[in-house]
Amino acid sequence: MAETLTTPRTLVDGFGRTISYLRISVTDRCDLRCRYCMAENMTFLPRSEVLSLEETSELADIFIERGVRKIRLTGGEPLVRSDAPKLVRMIGRHLVGGGLDELTITTNATRLARYADELADAGIRRVNVSLDSRDPETFRYVTRWGELEKTLQGIEAAKCAGLSVKINMVALKGLNDAEIVPMLRWCGDEGFDLTLIETMPLGQIDDDRHNRYLPLDRVKEKLADRFTLIPLTERTGGPARYWKVAELGAKLGLITPLTNNFCAGCNRVRITASGKIYMCLGHDDHLDLKTALRTGGRAAVDDLLDRAMVLKPERHNFEILPDDTAPAIERHMSVTGG
Ligand code: SAM
Ligand code: SF4
Repeated sequence: MAETLTTPRTLVDGFGRTISYLRISVTDRCDLRCRYCMAENMTFLPRSEVLSLEETSELADIFIERGVRKIRLTGGEPLVRSDAPKLVRMIGRHLVGGGLDELTITTNATRLARYADELADAGIRRVNVSLDSRDPETFRYVTRWGELEKTLQGIEAAKCAGLSVKINMVALKGLNDAEIVPMLRWCGDEGFDLTLIETMPLGQIDDDRHNRYLPLDRVKEKLADRFTLIPLTERTGGPARYWKVAELGAKLGLITPLTNNFCAGCNRVRITASGKIYMCLGHDDHLDLKTALRTGGRAAVDDLLDRAMVLKPERHNFEILPDDTAPAIERHMSVTGG
């Protein structure tokens, strides 16, 4: 990985944190309706508000000029946009030029069988795939209308295309907690890594999040009774911590924004499909990069990024309170893509 050099144009926030990681939500739409993520009936952005491919790519160029070294495409489901592979190519040219260290994608894999080769060819080396259950009925229940087989085919295609696969599993009390150990074993067998995620109170959903919230501290204790968990020093600047599972060879990640707070090392910002920059997943403050780009071009975007650095908050402030059924943040995870 290239060493990060700090220049006057580098994005550094008011707490001295350097921003080197950008997540781009390419659409807020999705072909699934995971119960912890979305309500069954959702109102999505009108297509006219969504950034064009060229605009998204231009914003990515500006972030890269300002020191971003890693970009993740996400959503919604990024691959419901049939032009997503083209965007991967457009941004992927910076991998060849050395301006970017890594371009990755987070997907539910329903369309990965179709696109895996193309994504690999465009420079993607790793994919994160959401898979909350390997039981067809539970999978269908959690996703409301997903077919497990399709997602498994997508994962297999990614493997065949030579992509490293990390499985993202949201830990859901009473739904998939009994599947965590089998999922970890399966990941070990397949050569995948596994990241467990705590449900976060983002966006109104039809279900009650409290009933499903499973603190991962407890899960980790139970896993440590069965496996040797070797802590890894690796940090991604996010809320994940990693262990090597000695018996399985798999890497285990835990994303625990609620039971632990790791904001001090935050290195990321997010842009939505309509070109808004959110400086923190747990706050609603945002700035409108699309209007800046359309009315003032690159210079206006640059100015707004400087303002964003001043506004980036020190830490998120969400928590799941037992008597509070309203989400901490109105915006769904699919708007900013995690
Ligand atoms: N559709 C893609 C997918 O599911 O991988 C990408 C977008 S999805 C919003 C990104 C990640 O956020 C997924 O791993 C999903 O499980 C997770 N996620 C969605 N809503 C969440 C919530 N409220 N709390 C915790 N994780 C959530
Ligand atoms: Fe769609 Fe991903 Fe949200 Fe599931 S978690 S509804 S796949 S955006």
